[in-house]
Amino acid sequence: MPEPTPQLIDRFGRHINYVRLSVTDRCDLRCVYCMAEDMTFLPRAQVLTLEEIARLGRCLSELGVTKLRVTGGEPLVRRNVLWLFEQLGALPGIRDLTLTTNGTQLPKYAQALKAAGVTRINISLDSLRPDRFRAITRKGELKQVQAGIDAALAAGFARVKLNSVILRHRNDDEVCDLVRFALARGMDLSFIEEMPLGQIGDHDRAEAYYSSDEIRRDLSQHFELIPTTETTGGPSRYWRVAGHETKIGFISPHSHNFCADCNRVRVTAEGRLLLCLGQEHSADLRRALRANPSDDERVKQAIRDAMAIKPRGHDFDLTEQPIIFRHMNATGG
Ligand code: SAM
Ligand code: SF4
Repeated sequence: MPEPTPQLIDRFGRHINYVRLSVTDRCDLRCVYCMAEDMTFLPRAQVLTLEEIARLGRCLSELGVTKLRVTGGEPLVRRNVLWLFEQLGALPGIRDLTLTTNGTQLPKYAQALKAAGVTRINISLDSLRPDRFRAITRKGELKQVQAGIDAALAAGFARVKLNSVILRHRNDDEVCDLVRFALARGMDLSFIEEMPLGQIGDHDRAEAYYSSDEIRRDLSQHFELIPTTETTGGPSRYWRVAGHETKIGFISPHSHNFCADCNRVRVTAEGRLLLCLGQEHSADLRRALRANPSDDERVKQAIRDAMAIKPRGHDFDLTEQPIIFRHMNATGG
């Protein structure tokens, strides 16, 4: 298939071909780095309907977007979400339809997601110890997520990757075990530095910060890591474990700035087009969708116009109060 003509180009010449769509801010877990224990979720009327999200997906694909990632909140807790995957999976311009999930619902959905056209899945897993897993997620059952991982592997996606947020004194001593778990299953694994999104009330983020360099130092005592030049245009930098296909990614918003190659934007569950994870610049696509129910061109123009306000980059600072008051679940991680 020929490369589609990119229509979304920002002031810095970056081509936007990747959009992360948050389909809900709700979740069945309460991970300590993502949410406060007691959360107020959005009223239904403020959240885009599945039909609106599908329409947005169509507009984005017509603007040259080739990769969509469905995220949340927990996308698989939204009722009828499978219908949305079927719509997005049928869009001719979308080459890569991916999902980020906490895995709890995968035993139920993995096969159907594959049939709908989902190509790759990222599953969050921060600990292999049931008590710790429960403490970090505040309510999760490790067994349920492990069953989800097995279901995803059995369904035959092109890639199933694990995401682990590493926090000092919580799970930093598990990085080697997590790598062994991934190696045994032929899966990739990305380690994520915690980002200062929203007040979470559980821990001091500067104290909990465990850098990618520290993780690599810990891993290098047990594994031979070979750097690769591979990039997805995102924040991950990849290493390979010698003798294995498994890739180990490091998502390091603090220690390595990745903004110069940014190719992505996000849409929140409310339909706010966020131009940068670490800034508040946004455009209201819900208004554009609802004001123009049968005119996709107006919606597409609103998206094109928003490119003019995509900022050069984020400025996360762990020593300051968060400048971003949205939680990750509202942002679409
Ligand atoms: N519920 C799904 C899940 O957990 O995979 C999808 C949404 S979740 C917000 C997406 C990713 O963001 C997860 O891998 C999660 O670990 C990560 N995440 C959440 N809050 C974060 C934070 N403050 N800093 C870094 N990563 C975070
Ligand atoms: Fe839910 Fe994912 Fe946030 Fe955990 S990281 S609370 S699973 S949205």
